[in-house]
Amino acid sequence: MKLDGESLDAKSWLVAAGRPSEPGDPLNTPLVPASNFLLGEGAVYARETGTPTWAALEALVGGLESGKSVAFSSGMAAVAALFQQVPAGATIAIPRDCYQGVLGLASDGAERGLWDVLHLEVDDTAAWIDAASRADLIWLESPSNPMLTVADLETICAAPRKPGSILGVDNTFATPLNQQPLELGADVSMQSATKFIGGHSDLLTGLVTTRDEELLGRLQNTRMLAGATPGALETYLALRGARTMALRLAQAQATAEVLARRLETHGAVGIVRYPGLPSHPTHEIAAAQLGGYGTIISFDVAGGAAAADSVCQNTRLIRHATSLGGVDSTMERRAANPGQEHVPESMLRLSVGIEDTEDLWRDLDRALNTSDH
Ligand SMILES: *Cc1c(COP(=O)(O)O)cnc(C)c1O
Repeated sequence: MKLDGESLDAKSWLVAAGRPSEPGDPLNTPLVPASNFLLGEGAVYARETGTPTWAALEALVGGLESGKSVAFSSGMAAVAALFQQVPAGATIAIPRDCYQGVLGLASDGAERGLWDVLHLEVDDTAAWIDAASRADLIWLESPSNPMLTVADLETICAAPRKPGSILGVDNTFATPLNQQPLELGADVSMQSATKFIGGHSDLLTGLVTTRDEELLGRLQNTRMLAGATPGALETYLALRGARTMALRLAQAQATAEVLARRLETHGAVGIVRYPGLPSHPTHEIAAAQLGGYGTIISFDVAGGAAAADSVCQNTRLIRHATSLGGVDSTMERRAANPGQEHVPESMLRLSVGIEDTEDLWRDLDRALNTSDH
């Protein structure tokens, strides 16, 4: 990350990147709600040539992920654009524990005969190495959703690959502050900016980042043809959210570590899955690969699905809602969603926000103690 030739830490980059720099310019990147531009040099039509607001967000995330970014209307639009790059009849390898939308996208393509899908366990490194030699698209997610299993990205990225194949990593749960997939050898890193970059649960946007100029051009072309363009307001809000991302992540992550440890000794709680806990099956690789263990905790509630549902009803500060990465703590029972058959019935996924640690613990502890087990 370099600003005017000067190397910056990610925390400074998040604040300084993508800002106007000419005398008389506004300090902040303007929100530009424009479909078309005056003809001459530069921008022509937003769907084709983008807008200054998207460009600023792309510059910020590109620098953060050590590549160049293309912004889309959502994280799923970004993933779909990447999946469109594989040839007909392709083989696609995805994790068994994977973002629900990506699982759906892969099955939809398989049902329509577009591609064959291999479902691999996140931590089965040998299976990923084998798949890398024959798959056209290797799609990893680490830590995975919602089981929080960590893949050995560096080893998998170093494996011999089928020529022309693409290896992508969904970096949403880790964030570019905790994990740098391109530095680890991936071709592509994907962020749902809906989550930590936006950080306020008020927008949908996604970005694909790569160092491969040819792939970058193809992704921009797909965005133009499919019309999967980000919104003016959304990219403006994502930029504004990104300014405080390092602080938000540090606070939420510190709280998540405390809550995970306390949950592990709580009488109404079974297995706690958090990559930072020494008991976590992939803790060792998490410690080596991640700059921080993230803000998501998955834990089993004693007493089954009904007890878990009642915990969700009984918290006040922690809101009963899906999604993650916001300033507000949210919690839900993932197995209540379709396509989550591998997830334990009584498992809750908690996305820790930036509220006070002790207030959050009191809320959680009270809900666990008052729910029926
Ligand atoms: C939310 C999410 C997505 C999809 O992003 P949207 O912005 O909702 O389309 C993809 N992967 C992961 C891990 C996510 O959490």
